[in-house]
Amino acid sequence: MRAEIIAVGTELLLGEVLNTNAHYLSSRCAELGIDVYHHITVGDNFARLCETLSVGRERSDLLLVTGGLGPTADDISREATAAAWGRPLVTDPDLLDRIRTYFCNRTVEMTANNESQAQMPEGAIALENHRGTAPGFYLADDVGSVACLPGPPGELRAMFEEALLPLLRSRDLIPETRLFSREILTAGIGESTVADKLADLIDAQTQPTIALYSGTGTVRVRLTTRAADAEEANETFVALQGEIGRRIGEYIYGYDGDSLSASVGRDLRERGLTIALAESCTGGSLSGMLTDAAGASDYFLGAIVSYSNAAKEDLLGVPQSLMIEWGAVSEPVAGAMAEGARDVLGADIGISVTGVAGPGGGTEEKPVGTVCFGFSGPWGTETEGHFFTGDRAGVRRRSAIYALVGLRRRLSRSS
Ligand code: AMP
Ligand code: MG
Repeated sequence: MRAEIIAVGTELLLGEVLNTNAHYLSSRCAELGIDVYHHITVGDNFARLCETLSVGRERSDLLLVTGGLGPTADDISREATAAAWGRPLVTDPDLLDRIRTYFCNRTVEMTANNESQAQMPEGAIALENHRGTAPGFYLADDVGSVACLPGPPGELRAMFEEALLPLLRSRDLIPETRLFSREILTAGIGESTVADKLADLIDAQTQPTIALYSGTGTVRVRLTTRAADAEEANETFVALQGEIGRRIGEYIYGYDGDSLSASVGRDLRERGLTIALAESCTGGSLSGMLTDAAGASDYFLGAIVSYSNAAKEDLLGVPQSLMIEWGAVSEPVAGAMAEGARDVLGADIGISVTGVAGPGGGTEEKPVGTVCFGFSGPWGTETEGHFFTGDRAGVRRRSAIYALVGLRRRLSRSS
């Protein structure tokens, strides 16, 4: 079934209200196996809404309209739908009763314009609204079908779940298969490199389809397939997932809801290793990431946020001469910081990050984005220097993620 979501409201076009109804309806349709091919937002304008509905009626099986069902003059979804489907608007006596009861129960005075909410295109089926006055309706003919739902998100959700879905189910309109996704999560490899390594698979994709999404320092490979249930979906994922693993396995840290820090945590726990950090430019955010994972106390001993040179010297024992000779952002200093954290906190592994996050502080030799890492562990002490693009927040986040990537690499190498 091809659906189209039509959000009605000038406030949406002006950016005053975020179109969360489209988000909700789309994600529910994806879960239900209903293909959504278009999202349209249209203002409270009769001619433009009629045009939108007429185009949608021809090209889609189901239009999900939200908003414009209220009692005021700018609420035109009823009239426009009636016009697009070529039906007169008629007053439904049952609906009128229900609206009257709603007002009686709330001792709020009912105004004449509320009566317009009892109108529906002839032949439409009313959809009950337990949370407000505006009833919705469903109308179908040989050309296409439409469900008009209220704008307020709470009312929309309730009506979609409690009134529209049961109606569509009773008419066998909900597909038997739906979309399932598997996300393969990678870090330490760029999107274009992933695309290159998977190029032939991406070109030949059918079931499942493959899509890449890049985040800050991470790339997600998303497999999507249509199936009756999770088990059947999994069967279609297995072969492709295996092939992707063979090509980029060393960069894969998890699947679906996994996090990089939890994955690194598992690696540390499995090996019975503890870790300590020396953070400069990340200011503690690397510690924040590592301790996001529940049970981090099994391996995370602590961190020293050594922002100043004095802190690097006094708390981590970094020789002043090293900072004078190489500068605080340098591989030799990063190495000494990592060793210092490891020794001071008595950990198996020490990791350090020192860099120029910007926007100021860059030099020709060490521009903003220059970040040095120290990794001190059973493999000895190793250092790396990198250059990250982005603003201050981006450089700091990439730095923290890279520290985890570098650690993961060393742990898998040494096992
Ligand atoms: P309406 O049914 O058009 O009178 O809309 C009532 C209220 O619902 C609006 O003032 C918005 O705050 C909210 N609303 C309408 N459409 C949407 C939408 N697509 N997403 C989120 N909120 C909406
Ligand atoms: Mg409106």
